[in-house]
Amino acid sequence: MVRIEEKLAKQVDFTTKDDTIYGRVNDIFYNVKIIKSKKTAQPNNLSETLIYRKEKNPLAFIISPKYETAVFDVFATRSKPVDLVELNDFIETNYFIYKVYKMNYIEDHFSFLLDKNQSFNIKIPYIAQFMNDFSNHLKELDYYSACTKCGSTDNITCKPARGMVIEICTACALKETAL
Ligand SMILES: [Zn+2]
Repeated sequence: MVRIEEKLAKQVDFTTKDDTIYGRVNDIFYNVKIIKSKKTAQPNNLSETLIYRKEKNPLAFIISPKYETAVFDVFATRSKPVDLVELNDFIETNYFIYKVYKMNYIEDHFSFLLDKNQSFNIKIPYIAQFMNDFSNHLKELDYYSACTKCGSTDNITCKPARGMVIEICTACALKETAL
């Protein structure tokens, strides 16, 4: 069975690293994680019971996985000051389409959750459409993604950092390895 992370990565042309899916949509850099619901299921038959017992952590193993929420980390900045009111406008205007909540912005890093909307599980086309609309909105407000250390937009590469993947320019990456 193909993991939902791999399906989403394929749909939006992202890369996966462990449970993180990352890449750019309309030049805006995203990390996405899909969260399994915490409901646990009991095995229904013998083969499921055997699988169930094999799992080291039975509580983490869900016979019928349900995905309800996606966690977003979006890295973008702009030359003028960040205006969270502008961003909340987007969230409020689109609330019937996209269930976005817990929006935070700290040092060029947006974090928030996207909940499923009127479906049993969160759907890949819904996540993909959201990323397209949200990054178009950020671009209209002059946000762009850049090296998270120096703000350069040249020679960007990706590297894992604190459970995420960040973008960094090759000059900053070289400085880091020299330390
Ligand atoms: Zn840099």
